[in-house]
Amino acid sequence: MLNLVLFGPPGAGKGTQSEKLIAHYGLVHISTGDVFRALNPESDLAKLAKSYSDKGDLVPDDVTIKILENEVLKHPNAKGVIYDGFPRTNAQAEALDKFLEGKGDSISLMVALDVPEEELKTRLLKRAEVSGRADDADPEIIANRIANYKRQTAPVAEFYKAQGKLRLVDGIGTIDEIFGRICAAVDKV
Ligand code: ADP
Repeated sequence: MLNLVLFGPPGAGKGTQSEKLIAHYGLVHISTGDVFRALNPESDLAKLAKSYSDKGDLVPDDVTIKILENEVLKHPNAKGVIYDGFPRTNAQAEALDKFLEGKGDSISLMVALDVPEEELKTRLLKRAEVSGRADDADPEIIANRIANYKRQTAPVAEFYKAQGKLRLVDGIGTIDEIFGRICAAVDKV
């Protein structure tokens, strides 16, 4: 199985590149952000997740890990999976390793998109015009998401680096240029 972690700060282009990767490699796409947004808005779980995401904070690990595992189990025949927006903490990365190990599987590669902070802010505010997401529209919430990324999520790259699985990809350029760089990394697996 090709199990790819697509990594990078909010606004780095993970969703856009995921769509192209799914089509190219025939993978299942699992985005924890999308899963949270797709929950029945009246459910307690959706309300809990939204109480964090609307502020730009991470949803607690125990909830997120359960949601993720549940989602993976929905695709027993997948050729491979793109993990988009997960793991976002070292605890999540450890849980994912353990979960995959239990299935005789493992992460193949982490592709980390590198995009400067000013560009992220511009992209998120632009996305707000079409996404309708509360967490995209407010510069203070965007700043909080980026700060949380640096504090809680950036260390996850070290986790995969220590396993020799980290590949840094320049996230500036056209969508196709960036896609080409990601494919070059994936094709070496
Ligand atoms: P982004 O564009 O910021 O990468 P996502 O759509 O991936 O946004 O996620 C939106 C929100 O959902 C996050 O700000 C966070 O509150 C919550 N979320 C998504 N994935 C996770 C995760 N792995 N752990 C904790 N919270 C998460």
